[in-house]
Amino acid sequence: MEHPENDDQYKGLKVNKGISDVPTVNPYIKKRVQRKVYTPSEFVDGILKGNITILSQAVTLVESSKHEHQQIAQEIIEKCLPFAGKSVRIGITGVPGAGKSTSIDSFGMHLINQGRKLAVLAIDPSSERSKGSILGDKTRMETLSREKNAFIRPSPSAGSLGGVARKTRETIVLCEAAGFDTVFVETVGVGQSETAVHSMVDFFLLIQLAGTGDELQGIKRGIMEMADGIIINKADGDNIDKANLAAAQFRNALHLFPPSESGWFPKVLTYSGYYNLGIKEIWDMVGEYMEFTKKNGYFNYKRNEQAKYWMYESINDTLRDKFYHNPAVEGMLEQTEKQVLNNEISSFVAAKRMIDLFLDNIAAK
Ligand code: GDP
Repeated sequence: MEHPENDDQYKGLKVNKGISDVPTVNPYIKKRVQRKVYTPSEFVDGILKGNITILSQAVTLVESSKHEHQQIAQEIIEKCLPFAGKSVRIGITGVPGAGKSTSIDSFGMHLINQGRKLAVLAIDPSSERSKGSILGDKTRMETLSREKNAFIRPSPSAGSLGGVARKTRETIVLCEAAGFDTVFVETVGVGQSETAVHSMVDFFLLIQLAGTGDELQGIKRGIMEMADGIIINKADGDNIDKANLAAAQFRNALHLFPPSESGWFPKVLTYSGYYNLGIKEIWDMVGEYMEFTKKNGYFNYKRNEQAKYWMYESINDTLRDKFYHNPAVEGMLEQTEKQVLNNEISSFVAAKRMIDLFLDNIAAK
């Protein structure tokens, strides 16, 4: 008798026989598909053909901090370089809530509808601390993220701002090689990240809001000086008059700044990202700037200056990394720091000792 319940005398429900042996392995499970490992040349071929999956994987290598990934990434970048450089690169900044994602969605759709291919990248200095990116999230740009001609990539999250910015700079190269003719680099208008973005774009857009009457107080002069265009968002409904007033204030303030290196006088426009008003005028302004700076030679000059800047940034980054990861330095750093704190040696002597230690250590290799 299998179950007491199946006894003839038992008054309750009977138990069916059922299946005695359930297979331990789910027979429906599919064999896990191994992700193909591409060679650098296969990566480059895929990127040049505009294959988005391969592009994404290459960007992941660029963002990785693993040495072997970096090696492949550098090879891919080098091979893509001759095919890069042809896009219009636009930096977009604004404080949280200014309407960056709403605006990028409508700016982006305006460009996609004109047959352009758009990559949206981000530099988010907050992501390192919070471990969560507040920028470049696909769900923030709902319409755009459904477009096959749009490539949206959140901010790289690991490392210093300089490191994150360098990775974004390298991702631009890959996107351009993949045929993207417009690149947006988005950042939060709260700190150092603007300088990094400014050093990799052709045109820098600052999104502002009208409202409190003292618009100019909140933003740093440095950010305003970097802007090639200031655009005042949410110029809709009851807010139109306020937006126009803010625009007039910005125009006045800009007149007090020294003339820009490019010879271009920054424009101030009002628009509504949400209601899609004034978007065309913003792109007309960018087009006008491109024409102006290409004619007077500033466009090429700036791109060359940026290339130089990134060369030095890379040198600095690599040296710093090698220094701090050098075993001799790592072994002595804490002790030397203590000596400085105890006033046993000065900061400068300490620094010199550490650097000498580093140089001796690599010379001995
Ligand atoms: P972000 O933090 O800069 O990316 O800003 P969001 O794009 O998320 O926008 C912040 C808020 O402002 C959201 O609630 C949007 O709906 C609203 N918003 C954005 N653009 C406009 C606009 O043009 N007009 C109005 N009235 N609201 C807007």
